[in-house]
Parts: sequence; C-alpha cells; structure tokens
Amino acid sequence: MPIKFGLLTNPSHNILEEIKLIHKLGFDYVEVGIELPRSAPEIILKKKISILKLIKNFNSPALAHTAWWIDFGTGYEPVRRGWVEEAKISIDAAKALGIKTINFHFYSIGLTNEYKKYHKQIISNIIASLREVVNYAGSKKVTVMLENSPTKRAVVGIKEYKFVLDSVDKLKAHIDIGHAFVENGMKGIKEYLFTFKSKIKHIHISDNNGERDDHIPLGKGKIDFKKVANSLKLMNYDKTITFEVFTSKEDAEESMVKFKKILSE
Ligand SMILES: [Zn+2]
Repeated sequence: MPIKFGLLTNPSHNILEEIKLIHKLGFDYVEVGIELPRSAPEIILKKKISILKLIKNFNSPALAHTAWWIDFGTGYEPVRRGWVEEAKISIDAAKALGIKTINFHFYSIGLTNEYKKYHKQIISNIIASLREVVNYAGSKKVTVMLENSPTKRAVVGIKEYKFVLDSVDKLKAHIDIGHAFVENGMKGIKEYLFTFKSKIKHIHISDNNGERDDHIPLGKGKIDFKKVANSLKLMNYDKTITFEVFTSKEDAEESMVKFKKILSE
C-alpha cells in the first residue's frame, strides 16, 4: 500500500473552507484539527453534516488532531480530570465524523528544566490520563496515538516518550519529524523512527532550523529529507504523512510534491 499524504485544517479558519482547499490541492486525506477557536468539538458537531459530505470526497480516511497544549500531566487534579473529560468530548466529535484515529501530544506545561524534580509525577499523571483516554476511545472503536513534542533532549525526550508508550496498552506512536529534529537532529529522527517502528501509526513532516518548531516548507530548514525518505523506505512505511507546513497550504502542497519525488528516487 503506498503512503497517503494529507494536510491539517487550521483551527483558526473556517473548517469547511479548509477541507475544500485541502481537497482541491490534491491531498489524499484531511487531518481535522479539533481545537479552539473555530474547530472546538461543539463547532464540529454543529457542522457535522457539511463536514461529513466534504470528507467523503477524499480517497483515504480522515484523521483527528487535538490541541498540543492539552495538559494530561498537570498536578492540579481537578484540572487534569477536566482535560481527560475534554479529551473524551474530542473523541466523541471525531467519532461523529466517522474518524477512527485521533492524536494527543506528549506535553505538560511542567516539563521544563525548572520543574525537573517534578517530572516523575508529571509523567505518571500523563500515563494515568492516557490509560483512561485510550480505554474510552477503545470503547468507541477509536485508536489513540501520542505525538512527540519539540523539546530539547536535555529537558525531556525519547526516553520519557518511550516510557509512556510502553506503559499505556494499545497507545500508538505518532512521530513528528520536525519535533524529533529539534530534540536531537538527524540522529533524533532516526532514533524515533526505528525505536517505534512497530507502533508508528502516523507521521507529521515539516522543516525547521533545529532550534524550534518552525513549520517551514521542506528545503527551507536544516532537515535532510533524503535521509528521512531512506529511513521510511527501510522501514517499509506505508501509512499516512501529514505536511505541517504552516506558511501556506500551497507551500504545503509544494512540499508534498517535493517529498514524493525524493521518495521515488
Ligand atoms: Zn505535528
């Protein structure tokens, strides 16, 4: 099965226009951002019929993407519970659109150097939250995947991400190539791809300069995409890749054409 290529809707724009444009640009599927301000679950449900009609135009099933700042690790228990409940609402919204795969991010506001001593507690909160979220999603036949974050390795990284994945039954890996590059350069990308090979369900791609998550077009930053393509070929990767190029949707489309060419070489 060949790799399918998709694009994420911008949650600050009109979701229907976003999906139409992504289809027009020739992507195989749409990754629906379920996120404030204009694509919160309540808005998605209100526009459900129109969204469903548009999703049907694609040749491959849609995916769901949630806000990167959902904080499953917070030590404020009522807040953590709130995030778990909100995650369930997002899963319901995805399910209403017939979407079978949803992502959450490996993120907590306390995962910084200043709170290093507190990290163990944060990670265990993240695991408890994800266990509940994955179970809930499972009861709705929705698969949950966890996206790695653009954090420098010195703070938190692949080791902790692996610990979470290993601790939550049925949780899948969603690898963001740009985030892995911020964490540990080309070595980081290779490590993420090969460590989680059997658990990877989805990939995000964009370029950056290694300092932060720039979301720039392929070739504008420092990532060696020939090496990325070679790793994917070695792994026989045949699932989905979403282009998270945020400069414009046309730039994202150009990046897709470029990457398809690199993959075929
Ligand atoms: Zn991403």
